[in-house]
Amino acid sequence: MKATKLTDRVYVDTSGEGKGNIGAIELNNYTIVVDSTISINSAKAFRNSLESQVKSPVRKLVLTHYHSDHTLGIPVFRDCEIIASEPYKRLKRSAKYQPTQTFENSLVLEDGDLKVELVLAGGHTKDSSYIYFPIEKTLFSGDLIFAKTFFYAGDPTFNPETWLDALNRFLSMQIAIVIPGHGPVCDKEEIVTYAKFFKDMCSVIKKLVEDGAKEKEVIRYESFPEFYTEYRKGVKELALTNWYKFYKKKFVSARK
Ligand SMILES: [Zn+2]
Repeated sequence: MKATKLTDRVYVDTSGEGKGNIGAIELNNYTIVVDSTISINSAKAFRNSLESQVKSPVRKLVLTHYHSDHTLGIPVFRDCEIIASEPYKRLKRSAKYQPTQTFENSLVLEDGDLKVELVLAGGHTKDSSYIYFPIEKTLFSGDLIFAKTFFYAGDPTFNPETWLDALNRFLSMQIAIVIPGHGPVCDKEEIVTYAKFFKDMCSVIKKLVEDGAKEKEVIRYESFPEFYTEYRKGVKELALTNWYKFYKKKFVSARK
């Protein structure tokens, strides 16, 4: 693990060694780390590498969401302010290390002429947040993007419609660089690909459910729109199952 300088102020490790990606933004007086990987060792290695390059001390850790591949390295940042959304706190209630600061919908961190925006979006999980650094048009998307591969949508709080809303919001923003939750650094093209797939999938699965398809039929359905064909085993099936459940629940409650 090492902090690779991506722009004037942004550093990342997207090697996958720490499972979830980790990054940092160096402001004038302090540096913010985004996510903490799946282990203390990889978080420590990233922090050491980062601190050998930045002038501003590491003072804040921002968490995109509660999944362990982004949060198990938190102890390495015990000396920092730990920031996450309100729903994060509820989902991670039993964890030893709790955020020291939470936000409802959004939070802006300002340091002189620089600012960083933290926004709760939901979708991948109820607490999924993104971090935007406008001056460098850089987006830390968290797990709303798994670049170049199929995404994990197995969380019980998965919501494909709010996920699509977030992707559409990204499309309206000035974004040159996307640091995804997993996979390589990418750009707006990747968001376009994701947004198109989500839009198509939402309407296809919604229609299947309305037409009375069973879960197994949705999983076996062969005419879904094209998307990445190489991914971790079971990931697609899990997404389809969860997607089906989402619309089934919606459909049933709408008929009540
Ligand atoms: Zn995740």
